[in-house]
Amino acid sequence: MELVISNLSKRYPNGVQALDNVSMTIPCGMFGLLGPNGAGKSTLMRTLATLQEADSGSVRLGDLDVLNDKKGVRRVLGYLPQEFGVYPRTNAVELLSHFASLKGIPSSQRRGVVDAMLKRVNLYQHRFKAVASYSGGMRQRFGIAQALLGDPKLLIVDEPTAGLDPGERYRFYNLLAEVGESVIVILSTHIVQDVKELCTNMAIIDQGRLLFCGEPAAAERRLVGKVWQKSVTKTELPSLQTKHQVISTKLVAGRPLVHVLADHNPGDGFEAVEPDLEDVFFATVPRVA
Ligand code: ADP
Repeated sequence: MELVISNLSKRYPNGVQALDNVSMTIPCGMFGLLGPNGAGKSTLMRTLATLQEADSGSVRLGDLDVLNDKKGVRRVLGYLPQEFGVYPRTNAVELLSHFASLKGIPSSQRRGVVDAMLKRVNLYQHRFKAVASYSGGMRQRFGIAQALLGDPKLLIVDEPTAGLDPGERYRFYNLLAEVGESVIVILSTHIVQDVKELCTNMAIIDQGRLLFCGEPAAAERRLVGKVWQKSVTKTELPSLQTKHQVISTKLVAGRPLVHVLADHNPGDGFEAVEPDLEDVFFATVPRVA
């Protein structure tokens, strides 16, 4: 099964063009939707999750017409929104049982399904604690448990690792990586590392437009021989920025390490470097570099 998005556009009443004629095909497996804040990721995710309307375009999931058959989509959809509210005193078993009943899981099976899911996301020993008291990482794992109820064919997770510490992020990655090859998982993120570590396919969007769609390795290959780096001092930085196309500046041991994009050796002591996904992102969306 594939998710085929064709010419999808959305303009908000305030005039912001959040999606501008977006077309792409998303296969099974982990797909990373990468873009800076305000790129249109959530708008796309909410549209795919049938929570908001597009102005024009179409989306098909196998035989399903996603924009018009909302009930059909909801039967096969799992969705982890950016923020989900939880009732202050409700524990994980109660809350997940509630979601299970909303998903139509019969009451006779509910307890078994809920327990199995809490084991799967490693929250079983915390099942009687209030979800509101969970750490960020535990909450996101609870969110995935909720989204995976009913064996969705399409799993949408919107900025799931924002706010997680490295350990929590790693556990969350492992959980997502286990979801399976036969499910379409779309992960939206502004964090390049999320895509690098998890996704077999990806897209980059900015200002509502699709700028790249394909395999991360293919995106990196496009930049081979074009990325150059140099460790500089802070005072050198401004003049380099006027002379070269700087795509990223990182501090390494307190010194700026500058990456520039150039078809040929730019001189000035720059040396060639293997492009990575971060170079791809900043070269594709230069305004955030
Ligand atoms: P992202 O998820 O990539 O940060 P969003 O889809 O949330 O991007 O937003 C895309 C653009 O649309 C932004 O400029 C944002 O300010 C604007 N936007 C999002 N939601 C609304 C809304 N309900 N009304 C008006 N503008 C909105």
